[in-house]
Amino acid sequence: MTVLREIAAGVHVLRHPVLDVNATLVVGGEAALVVDTLSTAGQARQLLAAVRRVTPLPLQVVNTHHHFDHCFGNMVFTADDCPIWSQEEAAALVGPALRDRAVSNHPDLATDLAAVTPTPATRLVRTAIDLDLGDRPVQLRHYGRGHSIGDLVALIPDADVLVAGDLIEESGPPQFGDAYPLDWPDTVAALMAALTQQTQVVPGHGAVVTRRFVAAQHEQLAALAWLIREGDADGAPPERVAAKSPFPQEITLPAVHRGYLHLNQP
Ligand SMILES: [Zn+2]
Repeated sequence: MTVLREIAAGVHVLRHPVLDVNATLVVGGEAALVVDTLSTAGQARQLLAAVRRVTPLPLQVVNTHHHFDHCFGNMVFTADDCPIWSQEEAAALVGPALRDRAVSNHPDLATDLAAVTPTPATRLVRTAIDLDLGDRPVQLRHYGRGHSIGDLVALIPDADVLVAGDLIEESGPPQFGDAYPLDWPDTVAALMAALTQQTQVVPGHGAVVTRRFVAAQHEQLAALAWLIREGDADGAPPERVAAKSPFPQEITLPAVHRGYLHLNQP
């Protein structure tokens, strides 16, 4: 059985074994919020069943970004006009092309992914929206580009929890395939301004972390951004930049390619 673990009063995290991805439930006085909906309809039904073992309240959904493992379960949550929130750039990317890419990149999940109807958010956020779940404010914030073009975080101030999506990753290194590696450090710095020493940060994948972990990942992201700028100025091949990176070569190479591209766009 897929189980939600309560990390703070009324804030529960489901760490799903497939891709070690997190979904978070925030329970208010009148409504509950589900942050991210996993990869497939089957996983999302497990998530919804786990949510219903905790609360009967009407639901809202937030997607932290457009990647399939965070939003392809949306179709299971569309009953009863459940509002689905995301950053507007992220919503624009949720469609059949995204599904086809997920199918070809993840052969182990291909059958289930091919059956998904990609369901974009119905409520769009540009930079900031405040929700009230009934005596429980939740702040949705887009601090800028980073892991993707449309990363959105959810802050629950009264529980001192921040749900970061893939802007922060615990169980593996950050992923740069759709990233903005030169912007990412500034985005995490803005996120850090919302943290206390005690804030629990739910990463996109892996265990819940603290500000200290976020600060360390920020240092690594900043170091990589600097290496990319330096490499571009020197005309260095991406492999030479990757050799100095704090992240593994296969993680770093796409970051360097994207960084060079962004530095040389007209
Ligand atoms: Zn992602």
